[in-house]
Amino acid sequence: MKTTLSLIKADIGSIGGHVTPSKQVLAAVKNYIAGSKLILSHHIFSIGDDIAILMTHNLGKNNEAIHRLAWCAFEDGTRVAKEQGLYGAGQDLLADAFSGNIRGLGPAVAELEFEERPNETFVVLAADKTDPGAYNLPLYLGFADPMHNSGLMLSPKMSQGFRFTIMDVEHTDGDRVIELKVPEELYDLACLLRDNQRFVVEGIYSAATQEQAVAVSTTRLHNIAGTYTGKDDPVVLVRVQGEFPATGEVLSPFRIAHYVAGFMRGSHVGPLMPVKVNSTVSYFDGPPVVCAQGFCVRNGILTEGVDLFDHPFWDSIRVKATEKAIAIREQGFSGAAMLGMNELEYGGIKEKLEKLETRFKVREKN
Ligand code: MG
Repeated sequence: MKTTLSLIKADIGSIGGHVTPSKQVLAAVKNYIAGSKLILSHHIFSIGDDIAILMTHNLGKNNEAIHRLAWCAFEDGTRVAKEQGLYGAGQDLLADAFSGNIRGLGPAVAELEFEERPNETFVVLAADKTDPGAYNLPLYLGFADPMHNSGLMLSPKMSQGFRFTIMDVEHTDGDRVIELKVPEELYDLACLLRDNQRFVVEGIYSAATQEQAVAVSTTRLHNIAGTYTGKDDPVVLVRVQGEFPATGEVLSPFRIAHYVAGFMRGSHVGPLMPVKVNSTVSYFDGPPVVCAQGFCVRNGILTEGVDLFDHPFWDSIRVKATEKAIAIREQGFSGAAMLGMNELEYGGIKEKLEKLETRFKVREKN
């Protein structure tokens, strides 16, 4: 029987601004999920202001009952968040009611379904204050670059490469996707993945076994009740070891602390800092953060999670990310420090520019 991993994440309210959910809200979500008979096991954690629910079951991807379970757990958490007066209570539950599939309703969703290997190992990545394109570079390096993935040279199965599915998230009329095979189409892949806001990795598959290695919570930019969704706070499931990269090869690119979109008001550029599970955010409502946990699963039952960035190595990377954050913040609103006009999450600048438009005058030629 196949095992399904469903990882669903939402911001349903936080303390002190966009910092972290309260213990009571987390407890409400945990209690709701723990009471379910649908799932085999679960693990719940927070990163920044988001709560993530990892569930195992045998019901397959996009299962209505599983998605409804997560939605109702978040609704229960929202009730507590409102009672406590938390900031942004229920903010990611964009629809008034659940309707069949939680995708497109606000929360981020990543799911994998597979026949378990005898030692099935996987990694859960969860980020806050950034968007799914933040994973483009680490997934490219972890699955297609021998500088980070030595298995591409050393493992006969991995030497056959991987197939990437990329989504054009700006295309709103249906899912517009392309498949590219590496290493043969490596440069084509780079051409797309350089544009983190438009072309985003959705999945990665082993060329040797056709098994899915990666699922990212990538969705096109839906427009529900005038609100763009599918952009923020992405999660990823990565199967590791065997025909897939080793855990450390998946983690390796995160030592770059590369610059991503997000940070303050979702409108700036900042370094992606690898942090411990349940970390908060702070400086300039950031910096953008990512946590990683390792699990094994047997007959659908999860082990406890191992916090993969809770190691002395990552302390120095956090210092590096801090220095990179300060470096780009030194130029405030100027140039590369902020996102382009199309990607700003607040309309204030556009309104100001429209007002100023009327005051521009074209000089008469001399
Ligand atoms: Mg968030």
